[in-house]
Amino acid sequence: MYSVVNPATEEVVAEVEMADLAATDAAIERAAAAFPAWRDVAPGEKARILRRFAALVDEHVDELAALEVRNAGHTWGNATWEAGNVRDVLNYYSAAPERLTGHQIPVAGGIDVTFHEPLGVVGIIVPWNFPMPIAGWGFAPALAAGNTVVLKPAELTPLTAIRLGELGREAGLPEGVLTIIPGRGPVVGERFVTHPAVRKVCFTGSTKVGQQIMRGAADQVKRVTLELGGKSANIVFADSDLARAAASAPSAVFDNAGQDCCARSRILVERSAYDEFVSLLEPAVKAVRVLDPTDRSSEMGPLISARQLSTVRGYVDEAEVAFTGSAPDGPGYWCPPTVVLSDDPGERIWREEVFGPVVAVMPFDDEAHAVELANDSDLGLSGSIFTRDLGRALRVSRAVEAGALSVNSHSSVRYWTPFGGFKQSGLGRELGPDAPQSFTDVKNVFFSHD
Ligand code: NAD
Repeated sequence: MYSVVNPATEEVVAEVEMADLAATDAAIERAAAAFPAWRDVAPGEKARILRRFAALVDEHVDELAALEVRNAGHTWGNATWEAGNVRDVLNYYSAAPERLTGHQIPVAGGIDVTFHEPLGVVGIIVPWNFPMPIAGWGFAPALAAGNTVVLKPAELTPLTAIRLGELGREAGLPEGVLTIIPGRGPVVGERFVTHPAVRKVCFTGSTKVGQQIMRGAADQVKRVTLELGGKSANIVFADSDLARAAASAPSAVFDNAGQDCCARSRILVERSAYDEFVSLLEPAVKAVRVLDPTDRSSEMGPLISARQLSTVRGYVDEAEVAFTGSAPDGPGYWCPPTVVLSDDPGERIWREEVFGPVVAVMPFDDEAHAVELANDSDLGLSGSIFTRDLGRALRVSRAVEAGALSVNSHSSVRYWTPFGGFKQSGLGRELGPDAPQSFTDVKNVFFSHD
C-alpha cells in the first residue's frame, strides 16, 4: 500500500495498492489478449466509444478537478483546465479511427497500398506534475489508432488516472483495452520496457529515467516516445511591450509551482531594458497569490512533496535571491515564488532544471547573444520570444533549439499542435494531427497485376 498525501496539508488522502511484478505481467497479458478484438472494432464504433468517454469526462470535470486539487495541490483553475483537456483530447482523437488513411502509390506492375497498423500494447508512464493531461495525451491517440494501453501513474499522484480508467470502462472500452496500474517506477515502469508484449513505451519524466528507458528499449528495438525535462528561455527584447512581458513572466514559470517541464525558468532581457523589466517584474511576482489550492482564488499551490521542497531549497540556498513572493508557513510543502538575478551562465540555477518556483534573470547584449545564451543548454523543450519586430521574431524562433516556442505569449501546449523537445528534452512528438500515426507501423502491400 502507498499513502497518497495532500501536499498542501500533509494529510493522507488515500491508500493505493502498488502492483507487483506478477500483477503487472497479468495486466500486460490481458491487454495483449484484448488487442486483436479492439483493433478490429469498426472505426465508427471506436469513435463512438471515445466520444462517450469524452462526454463522461466532461460530466465529471469538477470531481476529477477536486481529486487533483487534493492529490497534487493544483489550483482549481489549473485542475479544471486539466480535466477539460482530457475531454478535449479524447474528442479530438475520436475522429482519428475514421481518418487513419494510408496511401495508394503509383507503381509499375500493380497497385501499391500503405496501411497504418496499430502496434499492440502501448505502455504509458506518467509523472506527478500533470497527471491528467499527460495520461490523456498518451491513451487517447493510442486507443484511437487501435492499440490497447497499460498506464502507470506516478506513485505520488495515482487518483485521477484511476478514475479516468473507470470512466473509460463505463464509456464502453472493453476489458483490458485501457488498464491503469498504480505502482513503482522500477517495478511496473521497468516491466513495460522489458515485457515483449509491450510494443511501445511513452515516457514523460526526468531525463535520467528517460535515458534508462531508451537504453532498455534497445534490446527489443521497442518504440519509445520521451518527454523529458526543460530549462526554457523567455527572451525579452527592448522593443517589446515590456509591461506585458513582465506581467506574464511570473505565470510562465510559477504556474503549477514551477513543476512544469515548459516553465520559462530563464528570463533573458536585452540589457537596455533590463532595469525597467526587473522593476516591473518585482510587483508582479509579489502579487502572485500563493494559497491552499482549495481556496479558489489561489494562483499557486505547494510543491508535490517534502523531497521536492528540499531539492528546490538546495538550489535557492546556493543562489543570490533578489526578491520573493509570499507563501504559507505550513503544514504543506510551500516555497515562495523566487527570483534570482544572475550574470553567470555557469551557475547551477541557470543550467539545471529546478522544477520549482525559481527563476533566474540575465541580461543580453544583442540578438546573437540572446540566441547563444538560450541555446547554451542540453535541454530544448519550449520558450518564448517577446518583440514587436516581426523579422526578429521569425529569425529568433528559427534559431532557438526548442520544440515548442511562442511569440509574445507563453503558450506551449495546444492539443491541435505537436509537442515535444529538441536535444535531451525528448524524442518524438505528442499531440497534433499526427499523434495517432505515431502509435502505428506503416505496412506497404504491393498487389501484382499478373
Ligand atoms: P521521474 O522520471 O522520476 O518519474 C516519472 C515516471 O517514471 C513516474 O511514473 C515514475 O514512477 C516512473 N519511473 C521512475 N523510475 C523508473 C524506471 N526505472 N523505469 C520506468 N519508470 C520509472 O520524474 P518525476 O520526478 O516524476 O517528474 C519530473 C520530471 O518530469 C521533470 O524532469 C520534468 O521536466 C519531467 N516532465 C517532462 C514533461 C514533458 O512533457 N517533457 C512533462 C512533465 C514532466
